[in-house]
Amino acid sequence: MIIRFEDKTGSVNINYLQSLVLMYLPCEKFAYASGDDKEFSVFADYDENKGEYTVKASLKCNNKTSEKTLCQKKDENNSSQGKNLVGKAFLECAKEIFGYLPQWGIMTGIRPAKVAVNYLDDHTEKETLKFLEKEYLVSPKRAEMCVATAVNERKLVKFSQDKSASVYVSVPFCPSKCRYCSFVSSATKKLISLIPEYLEKLYKDIEKIAEFSQKNGIKIETVYIGGGTPAILDERQISKLLYTINNSFDSDNFKEFTFEAGRPDCTTKDKFKVIKDAHVSRLSINTQTTNDEILCSVGRKHTYADYLRCMDEAKNAGFDNINTDLIAGLPGESERSFKKSVDDIIGVAPGGITVHTFALKKSSAFKTEDAEKIDANSKIAARMINYSSKALINNGYQPYYMYKQKNTVGNLDNTGYSKPGFECLYNIYMMGEYHTVFSAGADGSTKFVSHDRNTIKRSFSPKYPYEYLDSSKYAGFDEKGAYEFYEKYY
Ligand code: SF4
Repeated sequence: MIIRFEDKTGSVNINYLQSLVLMYLPCEKFAYASGDDKEFSVFADYDENKGEYTVKASLKCNNKTSEKTLCQKKDENNSSQGKNLVGKAFLECAKEIFGYLPQWGIMTGIRPAKVAVNYLDDHTEKETLKFLEKEYLVSPKRAEMCVATAVNERKLVKFSQDKSASVYVSVPFCPSKCRYCSFVSSATKKLISLIPEYLEKLYKDIEKIAEFSQKNGIKIETVYIGGGTPAILDERQISKLLYTINNSFDSDNFKEFTFEAGRPDCTTKDKFKVIKDAHVSRLSINTQTTNDEILCSVGRKHTYADYLRCMDEAKNAGFDNINTDLIAGLPGESERSFKKSVDDIIGVAPGGITVHTFALKKSSAFKTEDAEKIDANSKIAARMINYSSKALINNGYQPYYMYKQKNTVGNLDNTGYSKPGFECLYNIYMMGEYHTVFSAGADGSTKFVSHDRNTIKRSFSPKYPYEYLDSSKYAGFDEKGAYEFYEKYY
């Protein structure tokens, strides 16, 4: 799409315009023009004398053209007003061309609950709901879910201590690659053979993070071992990894210790025993759908029966806090099949259920091989997501964290629900940027968060395990950067 863009308000950038277009056309590529040769043009102005914003937008797509002009008096309490007005003008044009409004309106950011969390500082829940609907054009159902999530999030973070942090431990290996996933380190024999060497370097990162946090009086509240599929490790490797974590940190004070078991084709009773013996408090065991045909077509190497067996084994090992992920809008899955998946998992009754929306990820098999078959604007996905919210709440689950990814069908959200007391604190802290999250291993980033939460700095580790192991590319946990950050901001 060719974009022409003139902004005299200083409040809009080109990335925002692209995000707006991508809500409707997730595979779109962009070019820019200064002349008349354009498909999407925006002119945004602010008249100092009148105290008024004016936005003119025009959109040409699918052989249709729509033009809109919106004016608004300046609201001193709304710092996003100019940007939002551009979004609204675009959405009016897009509605005329595509025939619908996205469920999240002009909310393009990845943390919708953050807007509600902040607004709730000075407003009631009702006012926040109205604000999301009016200012961001969020649908009443998603706005309700966003406010409910924000309210829970606010309650839960109150218990976080001063100068706390979390730790993410990355095991970026999978025995095979699911077709919707863009994860880089799925199994080749060569990659899997790197695991022993990878773990040795990972232990060093963990020990360095522990040493740094102890020296600086940082209290580690949650640890999350994710991937990839951490359960790809054998019992001995899992045991040593967990021992290293428990031995390095003051683990008696962890509020939460999660092991993302991931796929039921990688777990065993013995692995669960090892994990339980190491005081892991929370597991994630995912099936994504309970429909075996869909599981097969999206490249998952397990059946629903395998998931049920896996859940039984985990419960028998003593785990009572287990989360299960589902995905709404998987290619080929009907609304009826997804609703059955939601009902099936409610019947299994894990402590948490996270409902993701299918995203057309960059290097996934669906994107590279089947992109044209995907209904990017899926209205069915919206009904699936709204059904899951209603069914889960009716069965005692509450939303407690949410985020949005790029290129999801219908521009929908991923929301974590749980029964009271089974929320994942790590997810809230990480997504809401409440405190520093140290990352150990490849394909991760440490996110340093200042005491006042106004400054965030990232330190990335290499994406691929072989780069992580190459000392010329990665020297290990960024101790120097960590000291500099904490000296300046704490
Ligand atoms: S198990 Fe998870 S990380 Fe691994 S390929 Fe499948 S979706 Fe990606």
